[in-house]
Amino acid sequence: MDYQQDFAKEVYEKVDSGAEIKVCMQCGVCASTCPLREKMKYSPRKLWTLIRAGRRQEVLNCPDIMLCTSCYTCKVRCPRGIPVIDVMHGLAHYALEKGITPREETKKFGEAFWDSIYETGRVDEATVPIKYCLKDGMIAGLKKSLSMLDIGMALMKAKRLTPKLFIPPNFFIPGSHKIKGLKDLQKMLDKAKAMGARKEG
Ligand code: SF4
Ligand code: SF4
Repeated sequence: MDYQQDFAKEVYEKVDSGAEIKVCMQCGVCASTCPLREKMKYSPRKLWTLIRAGRRQEVLNCPDIMLCTSCYTCKVRCPRGIPVIDVMHGLAHYALEKGITPREETKKFGEAFWDSIYETGRVDEATVPIKYCLKDGMIAGLKKSLSMLDIGMALMKAKRLTPKLFIPPNFFIPGSHKIKGLKDLQKMLDKAKAMGARKEG
């Protein structure tokens, strides 16, 4: 079992908002109110315990830190005012900086989101999932789309998703108009990407 005595110190000093967990009183409110608690291996509360116990590999490889959907429930309810969501994202960014991908699917979805913004300046409920599903290729993408059919149908029923056609290879989706000033946006995104790459390097 991995154990690194100074891991808590590393988190306090190097992870965004990491020092905030020092005042955690282990009440478990974040764990009981997180809507993803049944999907997580550990709750935020347990992750803080593992950090204090020096379990570096276990924490940085834990998919939970990339599963958080930023719903803010924990941050609003924590009696100690700990920005749990910021610590979760801080840990995920720190893991990525260290060359660890705690949850591959979240990374792929993030790339699909980024690609959509980069290509059109927009994101919508149809474009991003299509790009995400096709990240593993056409056949795997079709299988993944079919496995998520019930979600798509429910979204369409609720008028949250409009079916659209797409044309490979650039997955241009009719109706996804490009914004004005896209080139300027792309320059900003290029710069942000270069800064991120420098940090990870
Ligand atoms: S709600 Fe706040 S104080 Fe309670 S366990 Fe979670 S982080 Fe710690
Ligand atoms: S912000 Fe993340 S960790 Fe907090 S309750 Fe929502 S999903 Fe759970």
